[in-house]
Amino acid sequence: MTVLIPVRCFTCGNLIADKFKEYQTRVKSGEDPGKVLDSFGFKRYCCRAMILTSVETIHQVIPFYEAIRRREQEVRSELE
Ligand SMILES: [Zn+2]
Repeated sequence: MTVLIPVRCFTCGNLIADKFKEYQTRVKSGEDPGKVLDSFGFKRYCCRAMILTSVETIHQVIPFYEAIRRREQEVRSELE
């Protein structure tokens, strides 16, 4: 799955894109999200929020794309 996240924190300019994949992998394997962010040295709330909200956004976006795909199939079957 392709994940689109901002390369840098909007607030402070800290580079976050290169840590994001590792963050996902470690959280999926059961690590505490807050501790993973600590281990990256992301102490500022702005950077932590950037990564946390990116993950939430993914969960919100997936059902949206699935709904679009379903609608496309409906439209196609109506046209046939
Ligand atoms: Zn920041």
